[in-house]
Amino acid sequence: MIKTIVLDDKNVEFLHQVSDLSGQPITRCDQCGVCTGSCPLAREMDITPSQMMRKVQLGQEDVLESKAMWLCASCFTCTVRCPRGLDLAKVAEALRQISLRKAVDHIDINKIPREEMEILPQVALISSFRKFTG
Ligand code: SF4
Ligand code: SF4
Repeated sequence: MIKTIVLDDKNVEFLHQVSDLSGQPITRCDQCGVCTGSCPLAREMDITPSQMMRKVQLGQEDVLESKAMWLCASCFTCTVRCPRGLDLAKVAEALRQISLRKAVDHIDINKIPREEMEILPQVALISSFRKFTG
């Protein structure tokens, strides 16, 4: 028996917010799982890339608490393989943007040891500041 899922206004609002920010027709995802099978970081994630898409489809805002969106390295492997032409990297980026707009940083620059600051490539540091701070 096919079960119908009804989204409430809050769910729909969140789905539209992520769809608008990412520019992706997220409802087109058919949960084939190719993204999860292709992602080099899926094993480290608490939810898989396809689960991330499903949560957004359902407007479940608790997806913002997952670490998967922070682990996504925007490598675009899933993007080039998605049979529905979806850019999941852009969805993860949109989720990070929504989280960072709440002014919650995800790294504390002051806690990076000085010795590491001195040896880490500057471009890597700047990239991580841009990715993890609001
Ligand atoms: S590969 Fe595309 S269609 Fe398949 S689950 Fe991932 S995002 Fe959805
Ligand atoms: S873009 Fe992100 S989710 Fe997609 S394969 Fe790369 S790390 Fe995984």
